[in-house]
Amino acid sequence: MDSYANLYATVDLGAIAHNVGVLRDCSGADVIAVVKADGYAHGAAPVGRAALAAGAIALGVAQVREARLLRRAGIDGHLIAWLHTDHTDFAGAIADDIDIAVSSPRQLVRVVDAARTVGRTATVSVKIDTGLARSGVSPNEWDATADALAAAAAEGSIRLSTAMCHLAFGDEPDHPLNSLQSQRIDDCVADLKRRGVTPDLVHIANSPAALTRPDLAHDAVRPGLSIYGYSPVPDVGDFGLIPAMTLETSVSLIKKIPAGQGVSYNHTWIAPRDTVLGVVPAGYGDGVPRVLSGRLGVHVNGRLFPNVGRICMDQLVIDLGPDGGGVAEGDRAILFGPATAASGEAVPSAKDWADGCGTIDYEIISRVGSRAVRRYVNDPTGETHG
Ligand SMILES: *Cc1c(COP(=O)(O)O)cnc(C)c1O
Repeated sequence: MDSYANLYATVDLGAIAHNVGVLRDCSGADVIAVVKADGYAHGAAPVGRAALAAGAIALGVAQVREARLLRRAGIDGHLIAWLHTDHTDFAGAIADDIDIAVSSPRQLVRVVDAARTVGRTATVSVKIDTGLARSGVSPNEWDATADALAAAAAEGSIRLSTAMCHLAFGDEPDHPLNSLQSQRIDDCVADLKRRGVTPDLVHIANSPAALTRPDLAHDAVRPGLSIYGYSPVPDVGDFGLIPAMTLETSVSLIKKIPAGQGVSYNHTWIAPRDTVLGVVPAGYGDGVPRVLSGRLGVHVNGRLFPNVGRICMDQLVIDLGPDGGGVAEGDRAILFGPATAASGEAVPSAKDWADGCGTIDYEIISRVGSRAVRRYVNDPTGETHG
């Protein structure tokens, strides 16, 4: 416990390890665990360590900076970073043995230059745009990129580690573009082989594809969301995934108010009767969406108490009812978490919040703010976290 903090994001690293196993079983392939955006705000280093201990063969991040932070945290496994700008320092990435996924022949030129400067062979992946039209080598630059990869590999300035692409419709398992993207990357890998370079691994599947399309898995799957325990295709199933994060705090203050008293900014809720309020010290500065004002429930002592009035930056108010609901100051208050986080009424999930705001659970979890102290439990590596 941190005796100065109000809010905790408790992360069950045993759930992370379990979810890695679920993904391996569903896909029949190795797992590259995606820990970008600070591990979807769960903490990239502890999650990454737990995933590697559970058998993940590599960790994936967007930025080289994220990969370097993992190295600084003492993680010595395979790290792949796939989103760069003209300013990205590839020399630093090579010195840290980070696998640089390139999206253009221009990026490859800069990696080759950096490899010569550092005097080391760069580990490179190629990210191919097979239909998402986002990052990745565009089809009209493919031949030039393949030629340049072959030349760079031949002179020893790079080693081609992996070939990857990202699906546009992973969450629609039967969409025809999924198989087409898979075919396109196979064609690209065949092009590379003809030029004498063969990547060690091919990986294309994000969480939904890893769970639903084992036929597309290739050598490894590259899930993010499902590592954290959420199903990206809840209509298909939860696959036995366990949500890792519980966002929790304790009731900060309890007060009685008379009927007619307005609550929180602009008094958008006015007490219809004498009642008892609980102040919960979490707000939109912590990732509780303000748009859920008046529409979320907080789980205290097995019951869900409704938020009333506006959600503020640091706090929100719940109505405990005329009898105070048996709630005392200091009682544990759960904002969201796995169903198993508490007994009694169901604990809201990140998906419930997402549905309430018209977004996806990816956005809810990745926005949990830095003020929520990350607390790690059930660490499969046996490490204890203070
Ligand atoms: C974020 C990301 C993933 C993980 O996607 P999920 O849907 O969270 O599984 C995989 N690959 C790339 C390139 C990504 O950017």
